[in-house]
Amino acid sequence: MSLISARSIAKRFSTASGGFYALKKTSLSFPSHGLIAIKGKSGSGKSTLLNILAGIESPSQGRVFLHGEDIARKGRPLLGHEAAMVFQHYNLIDGDSVFQNVSLPLLIRGEGTKKAKELLNQFGLWSLKDKDIRTLSGGEKQRVAICRALTGDPEILFADEPTGALDEQNSSLVMDALRVVSSSRLVLMVSHNEELIARYADAVVEIVDGRIVSSTLEKPSQEASPKKKAHRRISGGWVLRFLGKNIRQNLGKDTMCFLSGTLGFAALLLSFGFLVGNLPAMEAEQEKTLTYLSASISKRSVVEIPGSALSLVKQSRPSEEEAIAALKEIEGLDIVTDYGYFFASNLPFTCGDTTYEPVTLSPLYDITLQEHGAPLWRQGEIPKTNDFSSCVVNEEFIKHYGSALLGETVSFSSRSVITYQGKQNEVFVDAHWRIAGVVREFGFLNVPRVYYSYQGLCDALADIEVSGEAGESANLIAIAQEAAADSPYGNFSRLLFLHDAKDVHVLHELIDRKTFGEELEVQASSYSLRQSFLSLSSAFTSSLSLFVGIAMVGLALILGMASYSSLVAGRKQNAILSVLGAGVGSILSIYVFEAMVLCVGSSLTALLISPLLQDVLNKLLYREFDIAHLIAIPYQQYMGVPFLLVIGLVLVAALLGLLSSIVPLAIHRKMPIAEELRDE
Ligand code: ADP
Ligand code: MG
Repeated sequence: MSLISARSIAKRFSTASGGFYALKKTSLSFPSHGLIAIKGKSGSGKSTLLNILAGIESPSQGRVFLHGEDIARKGRPLLGHEAAMVFQHYNLIDGDSVFQNVSLPLLIRGEGTKKAKELLNQFGLWSLKDKDIRTLSGGEKQRVAICRALTGDPEILFADEPTGALDEQNSSLVMDALRVVSSSRLVLMVSHNEELIARYADAVVEIVDGRIVSSTLEKPSQEASPKKKAHRRISGGWVLRFLGKNIRQNLGKDTMCFLSGTLGFAALLLSFGFLVGNLPAMEAEQEKTLTYLSASISKRSVVEIPGSALSLVKQSRPSEEEAIAALKEIEGLDIVTDYGYFFASNLPFTCGDTTYEPVTLSPLYDITLQEHGAPLWRQGEIPKTNDFSSCVVNEEFIKHYGSALLGETVSFSSRSVITYQGKQNEVFVDAHWRIAGVVREFGFLNVPRVYYSYQGLCDALADIEVSGEAGESANLIAIAQEAAADSPYGNFSRLLFLHDAKDVHVLHELIDRKTFGEELEVQASSYSLRQSFLSLSSAFTSSLSLFVGIAMVGLALILGMASYSSLVAGRKQNAILSVLGAGVGSILSIYVFEAMVLCVGSSLTALLISPLLQDVLNKLLYREFDIAHLIAIPYQQYMGVPFLLVIGLVLVAALLGLLSSIVPLAIHRKMPIAEELRDE
């Protein structure tokens, strides 16, 4: 039995002008050692024959046997295992040292580098061990390539024009080396150098136009001994080294990808920060309105119409006890009478001779703004007394009516008709307020507003007397206090003045929990604002999540393209690694790691720069929307887990790198080795 044999092999290539046979049907057997030359003119099919025997090109028909076993059924290549190959143009790894080149197959096999040292010494190359391959002469390169090929102790050494690029002297050195090698193994060499063949070859196969025309091969006599199976260990060190090399080689492209990755991840972080931060930010903004601490409570009362099946449902003022009982969970609370019947909440006003259109009027518990107004203060002066002499307006008022009104006195007059003990009284409540200053409230959903002192209104009402038919009189305060629920003076609500932001949250909670029953109703502008924010926030959240998803797919595509292009750029190197025995998985892992390094690296950079971006964006958003800290990336803690976001982002990045590289690489899995290694 021969060591390696080809049975009825042929190779047909298809070209633009149709197919042709580069190798016509032939059968050959080779002995277990000796230097066998395949000679022929250029283009005659020598390389094709050698490549088919070496298993890096598959025959169009026929089979190749090693130790009687079909090599196509082995499930792994011959090269890097039972065989090795040297090429006309060496196919060494440029940029690596002599020692790195020779020890690479050993590392791929997970072996120590001792063998590399032995071989370099044997071939007199040890002194060159640290030199960059690119600085060597052709002869030195080819001898290094032979050393590299011998590290795996192959049974067969294939050599395709090993002296093709060398001068006479170097050719002799290389041939001497091959001669030595062939004493213990089969060396199958392609050459067109008749003289060298005559000098060195033990047997010659001649090929003309793809057909074997002569062969001095003897029928092999001795039985080849089955080769021991080499034990392989997994080793990743060389993969990491090539990863580093790759990143250095692809520096420009990888930098671009790194930047787009950084931007992508930063955008992801910022979007996430917005999703987490927008609602709390908006909720914090609502405190920036002077109405934040006020609300009202009213009661639905049913009034029977005598002699009718119909009844009237109307809003009325609950009793003080009912209001207190309903709101007992709120600590510091003032429940006061609403005098809205006597003093409307929307009135036109005059200033000098000019009459202005109606504006909204809101009572404040304390117009000297002891509680929370000071941070909102914008212009003018804070009123010093809590009376009916001055008012405060918001910025919307100034925008609408002009800043010239600041410091001026504006007059409002509210007219109502009050029947007291059978007599109708026409009552005017007049207010003459100096506009003391302007507050900068949260502008969103706000209207021009004038704030006056509730205490001031009480004092004004206490001064107004109405009279009954019998001549008795009473002031408006007393009338309103005593009015029954179905009286017009009692059909308003009770006002609630809270004094602490945390009580406002309690109030909102009470409204949410619907604790007031069927009858009582609490209305708070802060609550309506919050409801608007909630729906706005959920609209933001769902639309932004969609965009983030699209952005992630885009990022994955960019990164996938990067690893794919690295793989394509590294085709030759990968073919070399493959014939040195590296598995497809290990070679692809270089590119998967490259994508993962890019992804994880850019996600970490994004984490580093995102606080700055967050600041800048928050400033811009504040200028635009008046809402501070809309983006709040939860670095330290999310959903109660410390650093969940940081860890999560890095994991997502690693996963993205893995997926984005594996998919395109899977497409490229079949690497055309022979074409890459063919000598041009
Ligand atoms: P040699 O090594 O003897 O110079 P080759 O074996 O490289 O010749 O090539 C034999 C013939 O096959 C040549 O005409 C070459 O152009 C052709 N050939 C080689 N590889 C391919 C290929 N992948 N596709 C098409 N034609 C090819
Ligand atoms: Mg050739």
